[in-house]
Amino acid sequence: MTISADLQSARQEADKLDVADRLSQFRKQFYIPSHDGSEVVYFCGNSLGLQPKITADAMQLEMKKWQDDAVKGHFSGDFPWMTYHEFLQETGADLVGAKPSEVVYMNSLTANLHFLMVSFYQPQGQKRKMLIEAHAFPSDHYAAASQLKWHGLDAEQDLLLLETRAGEDTLRTEDILGTIDKHAAELALILLPGVQYYTGQVLDMKAITKKAQQYDIPVGFDLAHATGNLVMHLHDWGVDFAAWCSYKYLNSGPGAVAGAFVHEKHHGKELPRLQGWWGHEKSSRFVMDNDFKPAPGADAWQLSNPPILSLAAVRASLEVFKQAGGMQPLATKSLQLTSFLRQMLEQFCADKVRILTPKEAQGCQLSLVIQGHHRPGKEIYQALSAAGIVVDWREPDVIRVAPTPLYNSFQDAHRFVETLVAEL
Ligand SMILES: *Cc1c(COP(=O)(O)O)cnc(C)c1O
Repeated sequence: MTISADLQSARQEADKLDVADRLSQFRKQFYIPSHDGSEVVYFCGNSLGLQPKITADAMQLEMKKWQDDAVKGHFSGDFPWMTYHEFLQETGADLVGAKPSEVVYMNSLTANLHFLMVSFYQPQGQKRKMLIEAHAFPSDHYAAASQLKWHGLDAEQDLLLLETRAGEDTLRTEDILGTIDKHAAELALILLPGVQYYTGQVLDMKAITKKAQQYDIPVGFDLAHATGNLVMHLHDWGVDFAAWCSYKYLNSGPGAVAGAFVHEKHHGKELPRLQGWWGHEKSSRFVMDNDFKPAPGADAWQLSNPPILSLAAVRASLEVFKQAGGMQPLATKSLQLTSFLRQMLEQFCADKVRILTPKEAQGCQLSLVIQGHHRPGKEIYQALSAAGIVVDWREPDVIRVAPTPLYNSFQDAHRFVETLVAEL
């Protein structure tokens, strides 16, 4: 794809691409916020995805059932509350390349990271370090450090931090793998993101998992920015566990119930686990004999009966992904859309905008740094907001821009670049 010489002809290309886009009708299934009477350019699905129009109905259905059936709602209707989480399992698993028994929606992301680390972080003697990135999302860093402390270890000493090379913005796969090789004898767990939240870099989860397996080191991924963004094969790659939130690319609403993955190879094993009644094997859950029998799959990690209204929003959102044909067609459009955006940025503002996200390791998000002796990045970000462009600012100096294939158009990408160029 080559981009036209000027912004005017780039607009015509955007129009053509939108016409050819077989997923374009999905935009109508979302509420797009307005600004000064017209739709905003919403490139913030990496922070909070837009609301699908079917979500309110899915939630209302359960509100009505509560009115009409009260406690009997646990067993009535198309989606009995007793087994509600199971209605999310198939589509939820498809999205991350897993088997339904490997995926469960429960709790929130940081909580799930903790519960999974309880099972998969088992420091012993010299083999007690945890590898995370030096610039991990703060919640992940806090969770990891507190797990070490919980085990009586010193986070200063035993949290191994992956750094980028001096002068470089993103991690090199060879350096990640090299660090694992170098510290294999001391590593008890590797916990890395699928997509780095700040730079948008996609990590090579397959290669990292393979390397970890060479040394029998458990590996978990935080997929907050990967689920609903990338095609993944968690099962085939052999990833031990993963967790993600569902309010970002999964459009399930603020604070929505999160997802967790535990590989089949760990099902039914005697693992340390924090237990609750919803993790009990379901046919005998109500025998009430206080003898915990874990459910066969990832379900065993559940603690409580889940918040049905919030699960209803996740169920509705997963339904939209299913209608779109799952991640494969979405990822195909996503690559085209983000590449179109990248090419326009390179063509029309290369001297003033540096793209941190590596081209060969990008999902939908591009992280931009405004450079040179122009207006500071934060001011540009504020000007974009005032013009109805919704992106986000991450300290110290990045504007994150995330066109999503479900509800963004090539026109959106064009409008973004046109507005940016006018502000630079
Ligand atoms: C969004 C995000 C979180 C948020 O954690 P919650 O527990 O959902 O509040 C955590 N980690 C990463 C990497 C994120 O991107």
